[in-house]
Amino acid sequence: MNFDLTEEIVAMQDMARKFAEQDVLPRAKEDVFKRDLVAKMGELGLFGCAFPPRYGGVEAGFLAHSVVCEEISRADSGLRSLFNLQAMTVPYTIMEWGTEAARKKYVRDLVLGRKIGCTCFSEPNVGSDIAATETRIEDRGDHFRINGAKTWISNGTVADVAIVYGSFDRKLKHRGMCAVVVETDQPGWTPRETPKLGDKSSPIAEIHIEDVTAPKENLLGIWGEGFKVAMTALDRGRISVGSGAVGLAQACLDASVKYANERVQFGKLIGEFQLVKGVIAEMVSMVEGARLLVRRGAWLNDQGRPFTREIAIGKYAAGEAVVKAAGMAMEVHGGMGYSLEMPVEKYYRDAKLYQVGEGTANIMRLLIADDALGIKKANRPRVHVPDDFRDLD
Ligand SMILES: Cc1cc2nc3c(=O)[nH]c(=O)nc-3n(C[C@H](O)[C@H](O)[C@H](O)COP(=O)(O)OP(=O)(O)OC[C@H]3O[C@@H](n4cnc5c(N)ncnc54)[C@H](O)[C@@H]3O)c2cc1C
Repeated sequence: MNFDLTEEIVAMQDMARKFAEQDVLPRAKEDVFKRDLVAKMGELGLFGCAFPPRYGGVEAGFLAHSVVCEEISRADSGLRSLFNLQAMTVPYTIMEWGTEAARKKYVRDLVLGRKIGCTCFSEPNVGSDIAATETRIEDRGDHFRINGAKTWISNGTVADVAIVYGSFDRKLKHRGMCAVVVETDQPGWTPRETPKLGDKSSPIAEIHIEDVTAPKENLLGIWGEGFKVAMTALDRGRISVGSGAVGLAQACLDASVKYANERVQFGKLIGEFQLVKGVIAEMVSMVEGARLLVRRGAWLNDQGRPFTREIAIGKYAAGEAVVKAAGMAMEVHGGMGYSLEMPVEKYYRDAKLYQVGEGTANIMRLLIADDALGIKKANRPRVHVPDDFRDLD
């Protein structure tokens, strides 16, 4: 086993860290969406780790993506939510499952930060059970017509392009699902921002969809294959979300170490008290353990090997770690943890998302336990990487 990152990945990490410290961190507490940072990340190539050059990428791989994601999240977990959509789930799903025409129209612009994307699974009555979608996608001969309602859509108020999951026949359940790329500048596409606890720089929307259309070339996969598309998108998204959890947990640890080395009580730095040391030790172990698990998932994806099980374990462990780390950071900071002057109150609010998004902690537990108990194998051959991804130029 080699735990060293390659020189190329270390260079990407350095660039991401410099960008995060100079451009993201000073504005992390501004609770607004920052379009200029999206453009800059696109220019720097930070969204392009997993993409070949012809799609605007740098082909550094999924492990590189994971490492960059961590750095962004360490500075602002809300921006990391956007990062997932822009650097992974939206363009990668179009690249993996889209027609050549759809790839040409959308992937490069998303990877370069010129267009903003969103992914639409969740609905008022549909969360973990995505195959129960009530959104209707109809084949109208020369185009698709879509009607429904989506909730909790990150980037929902700012996206130019959306991947919408729906069904052409709900009775068929999984087999009735389809995924279609939709351009949002249509009269029937109506987003409304949803107020929320954390992740304030990532706007979330509920979206009313009425007679929205998409050309035939915007179908992802084949008709009725939307569930498969969704599962691969979620696997890849879990690399980003797990990495984001590790980055935020690292930020909790960094802040706690700093404070424990500054705050004096009973004539001593609080970091000299054994009980505080115990908290720090536990945080270090959780962060490093979660990091290794998430990176293993990303690395397996780089090798073209199945990784559904491993990234579910990584995302689950990282989600648990960050929620605990955020609570521990509050503890180390005492009353100052509660203060808006300190970063940890934001970490505390942002952390909870990691037990919800891209499959809840329970859904990860189900997947992991079903595999362990021999009920359902998690690593099935559904993750395909067509050869024509490779840059032939
Ligand atoms: C900040 C944020 C951003 C988000 N961004 C997006 C986005 O961009 N696009 C998108 O489509 N969605 C997004 N979501 C929605 C998110 O994916 C869902 O919240 C998540 O999938 C869970 O669905 P739900 O909230 O409907 O919970 P439910 O599925 O209703 O679950 C409620 C509870 O029941 C548990 N539960 C459900 N089924 C089972 C089961 N079979 N066994 C055991 N326990 C179970 C869950 O674990 C959970 O604890 C976002 C959510 C948040 C909070």
